[in-house]
Amino acid sequence: MRNPILIFELNNSPFKLFTMKIKFLLFFSLIWGSSYAQQHKTKKEIIVLMDGYRWQELFRGADSALLFSKKYNSQDSTWRVQKYWAADEKTRREKLMPFVWNHIVKEGQIYGNRDLGNFVNVKNKYWFSEPGRSETFCGYYDPMINSNDKINNPNGNVLEFINMQKGYKGKVVTFSSWDAVAWILNRERNGMLINIYGEDVKGPNLTPLQKEANAMQHYEADIFGQGERPDANTFSLANAYIKASDPNVVYIDFGDTDEFGHEGRYDMYLDNAHKIDAMIRDLWNYLQQNPFYKNQTTLMIFPDHGRGNGDEWTSHGSKIAHSNETYLMVLGPDTPALGEVKTQEQIYQDQIAQTIANLLGFHFTANHPVAASVKNTMK
Ligand SMILES: [Zn+2]
Repeated sequence: MRNPILIFELNNSPFKLFTMKIKFLLFFSLIWGSSYAQQHKTKKEIIVLMDGYRWQELFRGADSALLFSKKYNSQDSTWRVQKYWAADEKTRREKLMPFVWNHIVKEGQIYGNRDLGNFVNVKNKYWFSEPGRSETFCGYYDPMINSNDKINNPNGNVLEFINMQKGYKGKVVTFSSWDAVAWILNRERNGMLINIYGEDVKGPNLTPLQKEANAMQHYEADIFGQGERPDANTFSLANAYIKASDPNVVYIDFGDTDEFGHEGRYDMYLDNAHKIDAMIRDLWNYLQQNPFYKNQTTLMIFPDHGRGNGDEWTSHGSKIAHSNETYLMVLGPDTPALGEVKTQEQIYQDQIAQTIANLLGFHFTANHPVAASVKNTMK
């Protein structure tokens, strides 16, 4: 839209001599613009959710009030301080999530550093898991989604929308630590592969890596109780599936950060964030060496909600201040390398669904309104 407006302004400007020349140039820039649109590169997506992982740790690194507290840690204090502490904030956050702060920040975009005036929030009023995921993947805040119950979500989501597009049928898959995700995304309605706690990936030609990942999840203790498996198992299953089946869109839903947060185990919470950073690094490196994914895959990372400050860090929900505060990372061939975004703006979690669709060149519509995409995520 910018180019036609420019023509109008120039025609009304006193610089008539230049007008013809500029019109000519603009004509070519319009042609270039449309052919550029056809060169939209993203064909695949890796979508990562980190349940209840705070923006405070992402942008500021380990919180001294929590890291040095006896109450919230069980690991040897010298060891955990060595792993995650540095007086300088930038060094500290890099120690915690090195792939994010050495790679994503250089080639992608990171929204949500409130210290810089860049805000990302959930729009829903509940500030917990199921409403957060529903808002994110439906692109819509439905006040009726107000529990973590296993109720089939009546709202259409962007993953099933993509699964219905040409070339994407059966190639949109989900691996989740938490079992309720199968109901949030309504697996019964769309029949997509949504692999959850306790479930093996099935098929006639499983690779040795897939068989191993299936088996491993049953060897782990149920440290988080029924319905939630450790993230390392979820990642192994997703990773093995990607290497075996070349899916187009993969949603990996991690849960350990929220579980350790509720248990008040800050060292484990940090360890999990650190290890997810390593999982994403290894997966990204694999994708960039594989011609099926290389230079045509976009990675997105976000949480479903935030957590409280100080001693309230263990909790979230409408009664816990700040637990509606989130963030968004985007890395891919169509996304300008803006790094840590410093623009003063307000983004909402319900904009993520349309962003996921637009990056693939689709416009997401459903049986409910859908919020617009995050505006600078595409060239
Ligand atoms: Zn929680």
